[in-house]
Amino acid sequence: MSFKPANHIQDLQYFGEFGGVNPSISDSSTYTFLSAKTMFDTFEGNADGCYLYSRHSSPSNLYLGEALAAMEGTETANVTASGMGAITSVLLQLCQHGDHIVSSRTIYGGTYAFLKNFTPRLNIETSFVNITKIEDVEAAIKPETKVIFCECVSNPLLEVANMQALAQLAKKHGVKLVVDNTFTPLNISPYKFGADVVIHSLTKFINGSSDTVGGVICGTQEFINQLRSVNDGACMLLGPTMDSMRAASILKNMRTLHIRMKQHSKNAHYLAEKFEADGLKTVYPGLKSHPSHNLFKSMMNEEYGFGGMLTIDVGSLEKANELMELMQKRNLGYLAVSLGFYKTLFSAPGTSTSSEIPESEQKEMGLSDGLIRFSIGLDNDIERTYQMMKACMKELSIVD
Ligand SMILES: *Cc1c(COP(=O)(O)O)cnc(C)c1O
Repeated sequence: MSFKPANHIQDLQYFGEFGGVNPSISDSSTYTFLSAKTMFDTFEGNADGCYLYSRHSSPSNLYLGEALAAMEGTETANVTASGMGAITSVLLQLCQHGDHIVSSRTIYGGTYAFLKNFTPRLNIETSFVNITKIEDVEAAIKPETKVIFCECVSNPLLEVANMQALAQLAKKHGVKLVVDNTFTPLNISPYKFGADVVIHSLTKFINGSSDTVGGVICGTQEFINQLRSVNDGACMLLGPTMDSMRAASILKNMRTLHIRMKQHSKNAHYLAEKFEADGLKTVYPGLKSHPSHNLFKSMMNEEYGFGGMLTIDVGSLEKANELMELMQKRNLGYLAVSLGFYKTLFSAPGTSTSSEIPESEQKEMGLSDGLIRFSIGLDNDIERTYQMMKACMKELSIVD
């Protein structure tokens, strides 16, 4: 039977303390105990259902975490203040001084900078590999390797990682497969293919209204307990805690995620086909020309399509900038980083979200100057949007 992540989210029921249809927001940083013994037990991690202090956990954060765990099919989840708060906590929990990480070389710029510039200070080294070449990934694994890290669909090149093959490799070598699934929530469920930990930046599609940052770590109860440990848990001790008010608002936005993802995918697929037919170099996993089209198809939860992200290459940074400025002027979207908004967002990754990656490495991984990354919006009339975008491209002699 196919995996139905939205059903799992909708099957959860939480009520507010006066029967409200939304759960009450926990407006407290600390919690009283009726007995000193229970407080002690809670510190020791032996008092299930008791709250101690909101950096550790809070009811609102647990509600959101459970909805996200239901989506990914994991035992549980821990929400964090940002996607980077989730990524850094997981990697620092799994790796210590002397350990090694094998990471995809096409990843979010912040994650790349963390692995390239920050973790070496702790003597944690990373080998960056072409994640689509399983033999390259295996060749990079050393006795010190603890983690294989990748994005399910990568930023910004939209390379697709083979979850099953990577999970098998991870098992074979006794390392953890950690997957950032920010680009494809609901579309792909990495945990069901054997990923050990699934991370999201909630800032993007899941919250979907570009009004907050947030993150989540989905995994086993054992791993989430480790992250929350008062003695040596990265989430507890580094303090990337989400505020309860935000957890409540993100949970409410999550109620419409399945509808939004379908519309993002439908619109992106439509534009990708049109752009490609117009002769533009277009990358979208839903196109047959995408090198991993069949792989994506084999992993996807079908009803959600191929996602809302696409790229085109217009030849030069100058043209890319002209086009983005003109499209913004015509109200077709915003020249902005981030993704998953109702409005289309576009940026040139080489000079923005991937600028942490040195130019020579950008070239090697195929990140060209003229690349524009689109997060396609929820436009009701995507045909009209296409006609207007095409008019911009004609005006700038990008297409005939
Ligand atoms: C935005 C993003 C992040 C970082 O998330 P924040 O919420 O901004 O900290 C990580 N991974 C991917 C793929 C992203 O797009």
